[in-house]
Amino acid sequence: MSDRISDDTGRASGDEEPTPDEEPTPRVALVSGGSRGIGRATVLRLARDGFDVAFCHRSSPDAARELEEAAARLGGGRVLGRQTDVRDAGAVRELVAFTEESLGPVEVAVTSAGITRDNPLLLMTDEEWRGVLEVNLDGTYHLCRSVVFGMMKRKSGCVINISSVAGVHGNATQTNYAASKAGIIGFTKSLAKEVGRYGIRANVVAPGFIETDMTAELSDRARKEAEQSIPLRRFGRPEEVADMVAYLVGAEYVTGAVFQVDGGIVL
Ligand code: NAD
Repeated sequence: MSDRISDDTGRASGDEEPTPDEEPTPRVALVSGGSRGIGRATVLRLARDGFDVAFCHRSSPDAARELEEAAARLGGGRVLGRQTDVRDAGAVRELVAFTEESLGPVEVAVTSAGITRDNPLLLMTDEEWRGVLEVNLDGTYHLCRSVVFGMMKRKSGCVINISSVAGVHGNATQTNYAASKAGIIGFTKSLAKEVGRYGIRANVVAPGFIETDMTAELSDRARKEAEQSIPLRRFGRPEEVADMVAYLVGAEYVTGAVFQVDGGIVL
């Protein structure tokens, strides 16, 4: 028999409807690499969906301020930026502490910070190899490691790691990047198995070619060739990746999955 006390309406105490002037508890999200591209679109989308959102960037204070102002104009949840290098485990722990002190416990974590340093393997420098692994894979590990304990205590949470189709299919000149992005997939599937019993979900979004600063460097020729390999014959928009993130936030029975947002590309 339940030990909860019911009143004469049959409602258990503690189940009371909030009075009209009571503020609902804010839902909080944290996005790495939020100042630009896919991360920025994700910040705006989650804020529009009612989340208070903290985001980090490596060194773009102007872009971060502009994003805070853009979010305020849209009128959704609060948005706060903070400079944090995701390669630095201590700084990422401080980012999570800052988020929880400023906004509240992190319910949703999205790792979008990422870089490329393309080169054929024979020409690849150790610096290019390590640099990409440190930002993309170590950075993902640092953020997940820092949020997951709180999520376990609260028995709820949602992690969404941004990989790439290169991590699924591989891509010439991107052995470093593909290794980091395939690593993110293995990491996330393992995490999903580890923490599912605590009500935490972990999924991957693997974008194809998306219109951001990262793809702006492509030559006209490379861009045309890429478009020809995409059945939808265009690059995606950052907002179309953010749509998938928003879907996964609400997809309560989905974990350990990899969702490609790539216009049907076959690399
Ligand atoms: P972008 O270059 O526009 O933005 C990258 C973001 O990461 C920026 O906010 C930057 O400040 C941040 N960042 C970089 N290094 C960092 C560090 N050391 N510490 C903290 N933040 C750091 O990139 P994007 O195109 O928006 O890519 C976002 C994610 O999506 C990346 O992980 C990328 O690998 C992935 N992705 C992008 C594409 C694409 O076509 N654009 C395709 C597949 C996957």
